[in-house]
Amino acid sequence: MRAVVYNGPRDISVEEVPDAKIEQTTDAIVKITATNICGSDLHMYEGRTSLDAGRVIGHENLGEVVEVGAGVYSVKVGDRIALPFNIGCGFCANCTSGLTAFCLIVNPPNAGGAYGYAEMGPYNGGQAEYLRVPFADFNALQLPEDSVEKENDYVMLTDIMPTGWHGTRLAKLQPGESIVVYGGGPVGLMAAYSAEIQGASRVFVIDHIGERVALAEKFGATGINTADGDPVEQINEITNGAGVDRGVEAVGYQAHDSSGVERSNLTMNALVDIVKPTGGIGVVGVFLPEDPGADDEQAREGRMDFDFGKFFFKGQTIGTGQANVKAYDRQLRELVHHGKATPSRLVSHNLGLDAAPDAYRHFDARDAGWTKVVLNPTG
Ligand code: NAD
Ligand code: ZN
Repeated sequence: MRAVVYNGPRDISVEEVPDAKIEQTTDAIVKITATNICGSDLHMYEGRTSLDAGRVIGHENLGEVVEVGAGVYSVKVGDRIALPFNIGCGFCANCTSGLTAFCLIVNPPNAGGAYGYAEMGPYNGGQAEYLRVPFADFNALQLPEDSVEKENDYVMLTDIMPTGWHGTRLAKLQPGESIVVYGGGPVGLMAAYSAEIQGASRVFVIDHIGERVALAEKFGATGINTADGDPVEQINEITNGAGVDRGVEAVGYQAHDSSGVERSNLTMNALVDIVKPTGGIGVVGVFLPEDPGADDEQAREGRMDFDFGKFFFKGQTIGTGQANVKAYDRQLRELVHHGKATPSRLVSHNLGLDAAPDAYRHFDARDAGWTKVVLNPTG
């Protein structure tokens, strides 16, 4: 089968690889019809992880079941399913509590597994013609009859919409409250959209790319462009110094200051400044080592120092981590099915698999117009 293969930093290609096959009786094989490129794929693309050359990437996958193992009960050949990016076993202490991002079984000794992601187990990704789905009964999100027509919507339920939603839940947003999202990439925009759906009174989105700020405004948010000045000052001016109730971090380690120097604490310090005393902050942006092979411990471990003193005296709370996608996905599917949510508004490109190397280049460069790419390996 054909698949997107990681060769090394900023070097991927579409290659012929061995077919995905049933390895356990609880597996299913899915013929992929939609698979997204994600900001998290860039961690590997940029060489920030320990991913081995030759691995197939892609964790935002949707398609049709073509084969099931003997131990699969509810998933049938012909079903159209979306796959949460987390792989869960369904029976460990965390999975049974809904914390599928921290499954204790699929990636020992670490908690949490995913398709095609370096530190999250040996599982191949779905930027390929076929994908092996472990524990298929547990991990499949069954799709209704509009799954082809609304494919661009449903494929956003594999990661970025539930992740954006997770950010707002970690921040403990309540209806009628205001929220600021730092980062207007796909995840940040989905956090803003989730906040709108949950009845936020006011949503701010901060980014330094004008086009993404403009897109945030299309989702109903107030866009704050850091090119126009300190975002904390801009929001203080708009709110007469009151700040906002909740905050979501949706940038991660990639934050750069105005001179282009990487400064991963920039977003957290701004959120601690602008979120009200006792307000909540949800961190869904990923903080990775600058260089996993570096001699310097700080660079190797991805540490980040932020203003913990101010955070403490303001009595704020913080929530972190990968999204437990399954915990939100059934409700999000119903919102899409009944026309209450259209996350596909984010999609800028629907392309074939062969376009992947070019699409990664554009998405990594944050080129204008390249917001969210959906690949169709059958196209
Ligand atoms: P992205 O890189 O497209 O989005 C980041 C946005 O931040 C971009 O729009 C960029 O312009 C903006 N930005 C960067 N530096 C900035 C600065 N100094 N000032 C203002 N804006 C700045 O990626 P994405 O797909 O939206 O993902 C965002 C983060 O979420 C990544 O770290 C990704 O790994 C993470 N993520 C987490 C989960 C999870 O489960 N927790 C899931 C998916 C993605
Ligand atoms: Zn993703």
